[in-house]
Amino acid sequence: MERQLSEITKCPICFDELKNPRSLPCLHSFCLRCLKRQCKDKEPGAKEPCPICRREFTVPQRGPLGLNFNFYLQNLIDIKHGSSDVRCEGCFAIDESNLATVVCVDCDLNLCERCSLPHKQSEGGPHDVIPLSALNRTEPEQESTPKGNVGYNVGQIKHNIT
Ligand SMILES: [Zn+2]
Ligand SMILES: [Zn+2]
Ligand SMILES: [Zn+2]
Ligand SMILES: [Zn+2]
Repeated sequence: MERQLSEITKCPICFDELKNPRSLPCLHSFCLRCLKRQCKDKEPGAKEPCPICRREFTVPQRGPLGLNFNFYLQNLIDIKHGSSDVRCEGCFAIDESNLATVVCVDCDLNLCERCSLPHKQSEGGPHDVIPLSALNRTEPEQESTPKGNVGYNVGQIKHNIT
């Protein structure tokens, strides 16, 4: 099972563990840095074939940074390293996704300190931003599960792969 997990979390370009995994529309995933290398001669809007299935995708305005960050694979990698840390869902635009420290109750997003700032100062009034640790202690909806939603999901994944 451990080996299978390593296969899933391996980048097909560098054969190393995926670093900052980004998904193409065909759902193949690669390291951000590998995709950057792959698309370095391409203008935004140009077509680039997937290195695996050759299905073409459009290079986003911001380059591979604009592709979807694959939270699922990142979670698997974190679990593999024995970490159940939650990733920030606001760090799509930068190279690394920070660890989430707070959750915005209004947007239902896990966020790092930096990404939570616009929520705290939102124009329509500040959003309800609470520390993740507080969320894990209290469970408003599912009182039967001892952990918060996030911990529960990670637990599910862990269960499925072991
Ligand atoms: Zn790679
Ligand atoms: Zn593909
Ligand atoms: Zn962030
Ligand atoms: Zn918010």
